[in-house]
Amino acid sequence: MTRVAFIGLGNMGGGMAANQARAGREVMAFDLSAAALEKSAAAGCLIAGSVSEAVASADAVITMLPAGPHVRQVYADQILANAPKTALLIDCSTIDVESARAVAAQARAAGFRFADAPVSGGTAAADAGTLAFMVGCDEPDFASVEDIIAPMSRVTMRAGEHGAGQAAKICNNMVLGISMIGVCEAFALAEKLGLDGERFFEIASKSSGQCWSLTTYCPWPGPVPTAPSNRNYEGGFATSMMLKDLKLAQEAAAKAGAATPLGATAEGLYALFDRLGGGSRDFSAILEMLRGKSPG
Ligand code: NAD
Repeated sequence: MTRVAFIGLGNMGGGMAANQARAGREVMAFDLSAAALEKSAAAGCLIAGSVSEAVASADAVITMLPAGPHVRQVYADQILANAPKTALLIDCSTIDVESARAVAAQARAAGFRFADAPVSGGTAAADAGTLAFMVGCDEPDFASVEDIIAPMSRVTMRAGEHGAGQAAKICNNMVLGISMIGVCEAFALAEKLGLDGERFFEIASKSSGQCWSLTTYCPWPGPVPTAPSNRNYEGGFATSMMLKDLKLAQEAAAKAGAATPLGATAEGLYALFDRLGGGSRDFSAILEMLRGKSPG
């Protein structure tokens, strides 16, 4: 039986670890939160007393932690010193490219195989095992990474070498953040011009304004029944999470010397919406700020 150590059982990791257990793997789970541990135990995971204990006899170690500093610390202090060298190490957190490359270099120097494998899809996809994974790893390791990820995944794509998974994730989400604001501005303008929102949707979705933010995730309530705009922008992908990813993109752009002026503007607008109280709402709720409505 494949033994998987799972570190970080929060909104995303809880469902992902449960899917590993459901697939018949022995999951040794650890989180700092007692409530998260209880939930994972109920989902069929074994509970470890520490990261070191969780990874001690693992075939694979999966981390799903908040940000770069958490990943750096857990790897340096606990995983690299205690996991068997044969263990495949996979970090699924969304973190900065620099941290991903630094952790990969440390892992490789210590004799491990490592992959950065951030995900696209929210908590519903984590629970359902239908996340999309973007992987940065050595080419020969990809098949093993894919196999470990399979119970949590709808699609797994190799982006390139270490750090490329994180690069793909932040570039994709920068497109999404910018395009959502573009679609929202167009709806706000259409409204001011007296153009019916549903009619604008029908026309733009068959014209060159067509994009995912419009036709799959429409911020205007009505035309796309599954979009968060129809449930008061609850659930979905929180503004605070979009803001985190846009900040990562801006940091990466500054370090790499890339010009991303629309990414910077999108970050500023989501930061404003967050400060106005919209942080926990779906990111498409930024439409309300652009329509001059209170976000709360
Ligand atoms: P979360 O805050 O719910 O979960 C993180 C968990 O890590 C918490 O339970 C926390 O207790 C645990 N943790 C922190 N430090 C730890 C340590 N040293 N040892 C063990 N456990 C520790 O966050 P989340 O929503 O599950 O997101 C996790 C990652 O996935 C983030 O990087 C996020 O950006 C990314 N992500 C989230 C979503 C989403 O919709 N929530 C979507 C895609 C990607």
